[in-house]
Amino acid sequence: MPRTMDELEVSGRRVLLRLDLNVPLKDGQVADDTRIRAAAPTVRALAERGAVVVACSHLGRPKGKPEPRYSLAPVAPVLAERSGCPVLFVEDVVGEKAKAAVEEAKPGQVVLLENLRFDPREEANDPEFARALASLADVYVNDAFGAAHRAHASTAGVAQFFAEKAAGPLMLAELAALSKVKDNPQRPLVVIAGGAKISGKLETLQALSQKADVLCLVGGLANTFLLAQGVSVGRSLVEPDLVELARQILEQAHARGTEVVLPVDVVVAENLEAAEGQVVPVTAVPANGMILDVGPQTVKLIASKVGKGTVFWNGPAGVFEKPPFAAGTLAIARALGESQAFTVVGGGESVEAVQLAGVASRISHVSTGGGASLEYLAGATLPGVAALEA
Ligand code: ADP
Ligand code: MG
Repeated sequence: MPRTMDELEVSGRRVLLRLDLNVPLKDGQVADDTRIRAAAPTVRALAERGAVVVACSHLGRPKGKPEPRYSLAPVAPVLAERSGCPVLFVEDVVGEKAKAAVEEAKPGQVVLLENLRFDPREEANDPEFARALASLADVYVNDAFGAAHRAHASTAGVAQFFAEKAAGPLMLAELAALSKVKDNPQRPLVVIAGGAKISGKLETLQALSQKADVLCLVGGLANTFLLAQGVSVGRSLVEPDLVELARQILEQAHARGTEVVLPVDVVVAENLEAAEGQVVPVTAVPANGMILDVGPQTVKLIASKVGKGTVFWNGPAGVFEKPPFAAGTLAIARALGESQAFTVVGGGESVEAVQLAGVASRISHVSTGGGASLEYLAGATLPGVAALEA
């Protein structure tokens, strides 16, 4: 584990703070400030300890050049409000303006640099860019877990130029929670995997299916497994290329004694626009039907597995964005909310689902790491974490 920022001497010193301020913007305003609210305590803690905070982040995917619609400028006032610290936005990343702003800043003040990805050298992990970024500060804190799976200049390259570096509290909380799933989980370990597709989650699914005591497969992802078992899924979303692999995962799970729970009943409709779906046994999906949610028997079965031990859930059980197909996902979210288990939910849409169900505060850890969480659980070394430990 990396050091914590409490172990760093920051008073009167400049701290380069890598944050995840990658928030959605709409009409030049912050549309959802969840990530800013999450980052605010880290900023405040450093400022209160007398640091000059040099905050940086990426936002969106500008193509290595300034694109006004991806500017971090609208984030500055929101960060100031949420942290209670003065935040000066500087329209520059590592140039003269940035240097001057940092030099003038007083302890307790925050300088927010412009979107790191306005410079192509950020994503290229360019050593000169990393050195220039590092020259703005004395110590380095990375609290952007969501970007830790990328070896970019601000997450990886920059660290080698600092003798003193640490992980921020959000990063440490993610690592602590995810390692409780990955390493020596409290048994039983129940993994619920769903969402649209197997591809993209393959390594994580394989790694966790090796460790899990119970593997529940739901959502679009389950369809390919059903197909591998010879079940007709009509016009449901499937990945024909992955049927063989799905078969292997099922065989390995069986050989290991892992209990696999596949949908026993499903909600089908002719298309996504249908006003309502029909619950049918999984063996009775009509040829022109699409599986768009799990049925109540499947929910009951899964709910009966999640009461204790450790539960990791990634990927909704149905097209929960559409009310007729949301019941399964919301019911699973509520079951996790009521569970005595150590519960971790990860993934963009899965996190939205627990929020929609109103149970986010009853989940032990809601991981906002997305891709980074999945890579970590798959056993990968995250460049952004390794750089802090080197
Ligand atoms: P997460 O963001 O939680 O990792 P994914 O991105 O893998 O999850 O998948 C989320 C999407 O999966 C949701 O938008 C949902 O509509 C879709 N989905 C879930 N079940 C099905 C299904 N049976 N058929 C088609 N899409 C599905
Ligand atoms: Mg998603």
